[in-house]
Amino acid sequence: MCGIVGAVSNQNIVPILVQGLARLEYRGYDSCGVAVYANGLQRARSTARVSELMDQIASTHLEGSTGIAHTRWATHGAPAVCNAHPHFSHGPGADAYNRPGRIALVHNGIIENHDDLRAALQAKGYVFQSQTDTEVIAHLVDSLYDGDVFEAVKAALPLLRGAYAIAVFCKDEPHRLIGARAGSPLILGVGPDGQSHYLASDAMALAGVSDQIVYLEEGDVADIQLGKDKAFKALTPEQRPVKTVHAHSGAAELGPYRHYMQKEIFEQPRAIADTLQGVNSISPELFDGEGSSAARVFKDIDSVLILACGTSYYSGCTAKYWLESIAKIPTQVEVASEYRYRDSVPNPRTLIVTITQSGETADTLAALRHAQSLGMTHTLTICNVATSAMVRECELAYVTRAGVEIGVASTKAFTAQLAGLFLLTLALAQSRGLLSEADEARHITAMRHLPTALQAVLAQGNQLHPCRSLPRW
Ligand code: GLU
Repeated sequence: MCGIVGAVSNQNIVPILVQGLARLEYRGYDSCGVAVYANGLQRARSTARVSELMDQIASTHLEGSTGIAHTRWATHGAPAVCNAHPHFSHGPGADAYNRPGRIALVHNGIIENHDDLRAALQAKGYVFQSQTDTEVIAHLVDSLYDGDVFEAVKAALPLLRGAYAIAVFCKDEPHRLIGARAGSPLILGVGPDGQSHYLASDAMALAGVSDQIVYLEEGDVADIQLGKDKAFKALTPEQRPVKTVHAHSGAAELGPYRHYMQKEIFEQPRAIADTLQGVNSISPELFDGEGSSAARVFKDIDSVLILACGTSYYSGCTAKYWLESIAKIPTQVEVASEYRYRDSVPNPRTLIVTITQSGETADTLAALRHAQSLGMTHTLTICNVATSAMVRECELAYVTRAGVEIGVASTKAFTAQLAGLFLLTLALAQSRGLLSEADEARHITAMRHLPTALQAVLAQGNQLHPCRSLPRW
């Protein structure tokens, strides 16, 4: 639930970093911080809100043209200032505290082997200031640093076990920023002037700053630096394509609504209409993946196993009723975070269906990979983000179009998932010879009617809640 923003520019980037953090506040956090290069490493950290961090920054005049920022959701160590990111390395030695730091780092995720790494680094003389798993990465990169922070990060990553997205810079190379991801999302934004580059865990953080986005893939390490021609260059493996993202700017605007959940409840008709756009008949092709035919897969399966977490799990529970009653296909639903920790009986003819809003849910991705490692290669995802790891890793996909959901209690993403799962039910029923043309036409008509029906329900808000006029309930 935490967030990363990073930037390198020719100008002071602190306002962009903290505004990015403010846009990520909706995800929840317990502390926040920002670090910049300004004649060495400087930082401000807080266990209060981002607005308090902004006050601290204003009073200390923190400025810099290279920097990283973070909202933390503590997993290792209490929510305290000493545990808040960014973390600095201090180099080995008993007087480490007295020496200025060299590596600055923020991290989303969990490093599972942090105890072993900490012990090895302590044996080399590194002194730890926090209880976090994250601080070990900063010291590890420092211990491998030999004048090139990109090479040091690349050497450190194979030693880490766990999930991470990181943003790192080094005071000895002040116009350079490194980003890496494995199991946690990270994107790169190209500034409109081409003179600023950004890293973020979520495109929302860059709304209004950059809509030119590169989605880093699992295992990618990006190197952003000021070249000899004074232009910033972002070097990503295989030079991942730059995509224009339009959707995220408006999502942060509340409009006439009192809070995001209310706004998103009222966006359900549009989310369902967008999700069902272009669906005029039922066919397996609706679920085709890149180079994979759903028609072939649907003919080869005899059961469904749905893997999902949280709200997506509940949409899976609903789909089980449909799949068994309409498509007559045996269906199980499992909490994805539990699945890989128990012995199960794999069936290569099972269709694994993952459901995830972001397509980056670490437990659901791990469950998918576990199923694949057990020989279950028929995989399909119902997912809201076409560019996500989940869509890339599944054979088949149906991408819902709910847009960005900010409210933590899911509404429009949930109903859009249900629309995708109902289509899947109909497509499976059809491939099993259980959907007559008349039934297909009846269901399509009913689904087309859904947005209007939802609107009619929402229009009754005044009667359902004591208030004077919509949308103030
Ligand atoms: N595991 C790290 C910590 O506890 C990062 C948590 C996060 O993803 O915010 O500091």
